[in-house]
Amino acid sequence: MSYEKLPLEPLFAKIDELKPQFISRLEKAIAIPSVSSDESLRPKVVEMAHFLVKELTSLGFEDIQLRELGIQPPPVINKSLHLPPIVLGRYGNDSSKKTVLVYGHYDVQPALLEDGWNTEPFKMHHDEVKDILYGRGSTDDKGPVLGWLNVIQAHRELGWEFPVNLVVCFEGMEESGSLGLDALVAQEAKQYFKNVEQVTISDNYWLGTTKPVLTYGLRGCNYYQIIVEGPGADLHSGIFGGIIAEPMTDLVKVLSTLVDSSGAIQIPGIKEMIAPLTEKEDKLYDDIEFSVEELNAAAGSETALHDNKKDILKHRWRYPSLSIHGIEGAFSGAGAKTVIPAKVIGKFSIRTVPNIESAKLDQLVYKFINDQFKSLNSPNKFKVELIHDGAYWVSDPFNSSFQAASKATQDVWNVVPDFTREGGSIPITLTFEQELGVDVLLLPMGRGDDGAHSINEKLDVSNYINGCKTLGGYLHYYGKS
Ligand SMILES: [Zn+2]
Repeated sequence: MSYEKLPLEPLFAKIDELKPQFISRLEKAIAIPSVSSDESLRPKVVEMAHFLVKELTSLGFEDIQLRELGIQPPPVINKSLHLPPIVLGRYGNDSSKKTVLVYGHYDVQPALLEDGWNTEPFKMHHDEVKDILYGRGSTDDKGPVLGWLNVIQAHRELGWEFPVNLVVCFEGMEESGSLGLDALVAQEAKQYFKNVEQVTISDNYWLGTTKPVLTYGLRGCNYYQIIVEGPGADLHSGIFGGIIAEPMTDLVKVLSTLVDSSGAIQIPGIKEMIAPLTEKEDKLYDDIEFSVEELNAAAGSETALHDNKKDILKHRWRYPSLSIHGIEGAFSGAGAKTVIPAKVIGKFSIRTVPNIESAKLDQLVYKFINDQFKSLNSPNKFKVELIHDGAYWVSDPFNSSFQAASKATQDVWNVVPDFTREGGSIPITLTFEQELGVDVLLLPMGRGDDGAHSINEKLDVSNYINGCKTLGGYLHYYGKS
């Protein structure tokens, strides 16, 4: 893809020059154990918000606000536990420029040395041989959050005008369900976020380890449960086996009808709702760097349902899937307990894609499952219901924001990025798109093997520094688009 290059070399050189400062900024952030799921560490999450305020202030941000979200709803141990604040700030307010909102989160997953970390998780370790920064939050999401600030510092030191107005929205509860964020986004859509024309989020990862990606889609998820109830209490199979209708037998029969062993969903009507694959979309899969071997390595087995890259990725990203997760109330321990469970609850979910309508999917699921149960002629009580749903998201990878990010990536990495989707969900993406009515771009900084939620989380220095250049370059190309 050819495009008119912007003269960004001085910016990139400045970012290289500031590398030691950027690494030290990340080191300070990692040292604050802002674990949102640990109530005893809540003061540290708040400390991290204040750390960001200090950084934003020194970089010349204006209208910096710490937005309180009130008391954390149950379940909590400390009934008066406050939610960590959302940090808002603006850089620039020039009506002739575009306004970009960047979202990130400053809380992290829990981490203990005893979990198997090679070094203290909250003390950044710079492996100078591999040039990798280890530490909790390095890639998820402190590195990317600071990346935006680093870009501003580089502009200030160069004396360059910033290409857009930047609005930041950093939350401290992302790893714990983003409590309070949806309401704040809705409330500020026409206030603090009034002029925002584009939302950009750097909080996901490359698909692999060598090629940058831009992410334009996420699957949604509808999660259901099937409840089968019979006897008043658990019974002994020596006494009741053969003379009573067993809930577990009914449930297993019904569950077995949902999906076949090749992964094909058996519920009629779902296939018809899937958006047709266009030639243009199909072509996007050609160049993506991925292989069956990579899937096998990630799964730790050779049990793939598809034998080629394109089918694997399409089934992960653009087709629905149905997974059976478990059975509550069933005997699941070791040994040979001769129990007849009185009440069992089967759990399954469907990953959804365009254009599956959630409410219509529910109706198809209920009808199919109720018909299946009816055909069993069982006297047991039966119910199927939705536990929760979250919608899918898909954007246009050919829009001006994605194209700007693609150009910046090519400037920095000398390669056209892969346009990817993800099989899971990032609910905030959809919230921003719907509440603000603008496009969202997912522009990841880290690699697929960064270990975001596991031990030895890391961010390669090259990803951190080139990531800053990409974020900066993106804002320039987008500002001119
Ligand atoms: Zn994250």
